Amino acid sequence: MSHPVMPEPDAGTLARRGEIVAAMRRIVPDGTIDGAVGMKPYESDGLTAYRTVPLVVVLPETVEQVAAVLAWCHAHDVKVVPRGAGTSLSGGALPLADGVLMSMMRFNRVKRVDFENRVAVVEPGVTNLGITRAVEHEGFYYAPDPSSQIACSIGGNVAENSGGVHCLKYGLTTNNVLGVEMVLMTGEVLRIGGAHLDAPGYDLLALIVGSEGLLGVVTEVTVRILRAPETARAVLVAFDSAEAAGLTVADVIAAGIIPGGMEMMDKPAINAAEDFVRVGYPRDAEALLIVELDGPPVEVDHLLARVEAIARGRGATDCRVSTSDAERMAFWAGRKAAFPAVGRISPDYYCMDGTIPRRELPTVLARMRELSVKHGLRVANVFHAGDGNLHPLILYDANAPGELEAAEALGADILRLCVEVGGVLTGEHGVGIEKRDLMPAMFTETDLAHQIRVKCAFDEKHLLNPGKVFPELHRCAELGRMHVSGGRLPFPDIPRF
Ligand SMILES: Cc1cc2nc3c(=O)[nH]c(=O)nc-3n(C[C@H](O)[C@H](O)[C@H](O)COP(=O)(O)OP(=O)(O)OC[C@H]3O[C@@H](n4cnc5c(N)ncnc54)[C@H](O)[C@@H]3O)c2cc1C
Repeated sequence: MSHPVMPEPDAGTLARRGEIVAAMRRIVPDGTIDGAVGMKPYESDGLTAYRTVPLVVVLPETVEQVAAVLAWCHAHDVKVVPRGAGTSLSGGALPLADGVLMSMMRFNRVKRVDFENRVAVVEPGVTNLGITRAVEHEGFYYAPDPSSQIACSIGGNVAENSGGVHCLKYGLTTNNVLGVEMVLMTGEVLRIGGAHLDAPGYDLLALIVGSEGLLGVVTEVTVRILRAPETARAVLVAFDSAEAAGLTVADVIAAGIIPGGMEMMDKPAINAAEDFVRVGYPRDAEALLIVELDGPPVEVDHLLARVEAIARGRGATDCRVSTSDAERMAFWAGRKAAFPAVGRISPDYYCMDGTIPRRELPTVLARMRELSVKHGLRVANVFHAGDGNLHPLILYDANAPGELEAAEALGADILRLCVEVGGVLTGEHGVGIEKRDLMPAMFTETDLAHQIRVKCAFDEKHLLNPGKVFPELHRCAELGRMHVSGGRLPFPDIPRF
């Protein structure tokens, strides 16, 4: 993966900056930032290797303001990048020098909770954890739990189809969102789905979830809330090889057991986490599994015993079952803090995100070690093992000449490996700019053209978050180009637009 190149800023747009800022200030008088210092915090997202100061930042507070900003930009051919909390790890919220950056973080209200029907209606800037906080007093929670849940917004979760530890059993964002309100680039407001369980017509909701801010700006989200399980207990299982841990994961699922979460960490990650949170992780283990079972106590006890038996059969060197909720939370504390913990042992890290069939875990982990040696960079692994969703953290130093490029090359090799073994380029962090240029490793030209046609149906001028996800921008008219053979149009009786 070479350094992703963004489209050249349009000189005409840059020359109109004063006019654009004035228009934004007219529409959002108390939420327009155009000073260099004020815009600095917005120059990157969680993929901090890439930075661009936006043309102007706008923080609307109402749907009318979002619609007016988008309609104005549409009429004046100005690009817009939507942004939530800016924690994306794939550069999805990277600003454009010739684009308006629209932060949705002032949309921060929980609008309605309907416990009887188990839904909550929230604004997109509400944090993921904020939803659980709003419903937990009645014994409910919102299931998808990215490690960034304290900060990331539900709007960003919808855009990235985010996942987390508990998604193995309870599904990703797409399985927990019932409806959205969104504003199209033209300023039109669209409602898709709702508090009901199914919708007539095309399943547009599935299209919107994971659309990475390319199809519309989400202004309201209706989510499913779940009753908190009666009990949850976790077991820490240590192994002296990553392969044995990988095989245990495959065996547990093959036995028909779906844990609430099943996460894996390798030795560098175990030690970084232990140094950071000191929860008693076994420092000499080559791999650690954290397996959580939830449900009625009798079922949890039974399944824990089965998981332990499977793990011991694969050579586990230690199994420690949580005896209290505080201990269970401590088991998770290291895993949840693993990214910042790794940040303490390396000046920079590059977090990859690919998904593979579970049975390939041992092979892929072994081949990743070879790739790490080949590129001369260390890799720490912390990942959603039950889903086969890998998060290799490539450790590098951005100030050491050539290391960022080496990290990008190693990352690309790892993602190609995921595709080669029958997996996919992303799991839950999205394509953004990070994996954009690798899309042809996974999709044919026809596949990509069809996906771009969908983009064209929502945003014909390519003004919303351009330069992300698709390796090349095609003009929408080119995609619909008609093949004329022998001077005769096919189906001449069909009206043309
Ligand atoms: C330490 C750390 C741990 C993480 N752990 C996980 C994890 O376990 N699982 C996981 O899935 N991810 C994880 N992430 C990645 C990240 O938190 C998620 O992708 C999250 O959903 C991004 O939300 P955000 O509000 O920060 O969105 P942003 O980063 O601001 O934006 C992300 C994308 O969403 C679009 N967007 C944002 N809001 C809207 C909106 N209202 N309408 C339309 N488009 C919008 C943006 O254009 C961009 O393309 C982690 C990140 C960090 C830094």
